[in-house]
Amino acid sequence: MTAILDVRDLKIYYKTPVGYVKAVDGVSFDVKEGEVFGIAGESGCGKSTLVHSLILRKPPMVHMGGEALFKGRDLMKLSKEEERRIKYTELSIIPQYAMNALNPTKKIKDIVWDLAREHGAEDRREVEKLLRERLRMVKLSEKVADMYPVELSGGMRQRATMVVSTLMNPDLLIADEVTSALDVTTQRVVLELLHYFMAEGIVKSIIFVTHDLALLDKIADRVMILYAGKVAEIGPTEEIINSPGHPYTSLLLESLPKIGVHYKQTKLRGIPGYPISLLNPPSGCRFYPRCPYGMEICQHVEPKLSAVDDGHLVACHLHGGESNE
Ligand code: SF4
Ligand code: MG
Repeated sequence: MTAILDVRDLKIYYKTPVGYVKAVDGVSFDVKEGEVFGIAGESGCGKSTLVHSLILRKPPMVHMGGEALFKGRDLMKLSKEEERRIKYTELSIIPQYAMNALNPTKKIKDIVWDLAREHGAEDRREVEKLLRERLRMVKLSEKVADMYPVELSGGMRQRATMVVSTLMNPDLLIADEVTSALDVTTQRVVLELLHYFMAEGIVKSIIFVTHDLALLDKIADRVMILYAGKVAEIGPTEEIINSPGHPYTSLLLESLPKIGVHYKQTKLRGIPGYPISLLNPPSGCRFYPRCPYGMEICQHVEPKLSAVDDGHLVACHLHGGESNE
């Protein structure tokens, strides 16, 4: 499969009065055409920063190095005009708080028309026809087109936002924590819709960002686990879930409630400690302060990603990978 997005050694920092926060610090991965690529980790691991830097980069976010080749073009080098042009048409994002993302003062059809016109559409009737068709596809009434976002329930607004984000058939759709504020039933609807967008060829690939590994099992072909701005592990979802290679992934998985077991009988094992400060991250493995298996070497030598299986890479000295130093 060809890669639609190829990210190499990307560094995205935040400029603050006390120095740079190294939110994304040398991350590499690719997203293939036709796949759902999951990105997971605790809040603050850099996953939102990473995906937002691809299309919505603005101060205090600073690109410090590396590249993100999208269909051959480096997203880090696009002009504001080029960025505006590809947004929605080639690369689209459903934001984290999708339910509140739509302009409350405009009807859905006007929001969509503004967007389409900005991208060169001329025939308003055509655009509205497509909107109504897509609303029906996601099992919303066509009447939603004539409504204001505030007139819709949370779940309906979520679906309407998904229709708006995908109306121009973007090649790559980024879904950033789109399910986190939703109840389980609405979550399921959102996952079904994403599958449907792929199956219908409305989008070619999806990056699905979440802190919930259990969801990735339902949607992602491959998963990347981020910890403190670095890739901890990357590989096929099934393998990551069934035989995680990084201690952090194992702990994340252990902290999930078990299906079919009453919550009172499950001992949720949180991960002890807190993520390190990304202002002055220590040398060596960033997970060392919280890792139950930390060794001498982990304190001062940064583990490099190395293959433990076909397409399964882990950055941990337990796997005897070479070091970065
Ligand atoms: Fe733990 Fe060392 Fe592996 Fe880091 S490199 S996750 S500290 S064992
Ligand atoms: Mg986030």
